[in-house]
Amino acid sequence: MAKPAISTSRPRVLSGMRPTGKLHLGNYMGALANWVKLQNQGAYECYFFIADWHALTTDYADPSQIAPNSLEVMLDYLAAGLDPERSVLFLQSRVLQHAELALLLGMSTPLGWLERVPSYKEMQENLSNRDLTTYGFLGYPVLMAADILLYQPDFVPVGQDQQAHVELTREMARRFNAFYRLPGEERCEVLPEPKVLLTPSPRLPGTDGRKMSKSYGNTILLSDPEPVVRQKLRTMVTDPARVRRTDSGDPDKCPVGDLHKVFSTPETMGKVYEGCRSAGIGCIECKGWAADGLMKVLQPVQDRRAQFTEPQVIEILEDGSRRARIRAEQTMREVRDAMRMTLTTEKEPVSGSRPGC
Ligand code: SF4
Repeated sequence: MAKPAISTSRPRVLSGMRPTGKLHLGNYMGALANWVKLQNQGAYECYFFIADWHALTTDYADPSQIAPNSLEVMLDYLAAGLDPERSVLFLQSRVLQHAELALLLGMSTPLGWLERVPSYKEMQENLSNRDLTTYGFLGYPVLMAADILLYQPDFVPVGQDQQAHVELTREMARRFNAFYRLPGEERCEVLPEPKVLLTPSPRLPGTDGRKMSKSYGNTILLSDPEPVVRQKLRTMVTDPARVRRTDSGDPDKCPVGDLHKVFSTPETMGKVYEGCRSAGIGCIECKGWAADGLMKVLQPVQDRRAQFTEPQVIEILEDGSRRARIRAEQTMREVRDAMRMTLTTEKEPVSGSRPGC
């Protein structure tokens, strides 16, 4: 049965991910696990989405994988414990108001703000095999600001590397609010500035020791079966000082040691430190213990993943997008009113008065 749009007095949080394919442990520990915690605390009204239009900013030449990847990401959201009964889970492109607000925000966003975004130059260099000198790529922070401001969230849970984007969103909201006010409610800001809710994210190395990232090809996926996880760990780099079995090593200088710190019990950690520093254990044994710790987290996620069929995932996304559209349209009515873009003979704003203004 269709659920009503969520409307509560709880503070609202919103966050999303690009559909780049199946999610990995880095995505889980850096964001998703925290979203599930926020949802389960019950203190927040939660909106989580898949930013499929954002994927087009880099994959416009071949968008064929964006839709299947969106389904995989939603499966991972559900597998991790996001619950459509408690969070609004939706697809960006099914809420057309994102495009409308992005267009309107873009009208007042100075070009210099976009050219200065650190990831603009960085991504152009990293993805040098693609032509990213496009209007869409330069404008992605505007679309991102629209994604956020449309839902008037109190908080945006992000990692440290995303903080600058939220700050730019706040600047765009400030500029919009300086230009436009709701008729008769001049004290009321149409697009409230959201705050950052910093996600604590442990350092999670990939199998080559660098930060786990899809672009490095060093990931362990949430959906990797146990034999694959064990195989990936077997080839993982270790403390370079431990060349032979008889050499002692240091878990603090070893990527496998970093995995233990996140996933293993204190007892296992004790055995790792003792055995590694005294050369009492071999790396294969140590990696087996790390795999045990990882599987304790991954197994329940994979069991939940197996419970959903593709038609169910599509239905969840459609229903969540319908609920998101209701909330998004509330904001857009206010935005159009504030910009005097509404044709009406009434003195009262079409959006009605906002409580608290
Ligand atoms: S024993 Fe474990 S912590 Fe020590 S170097 Fe080998 S894999 Fe790393």
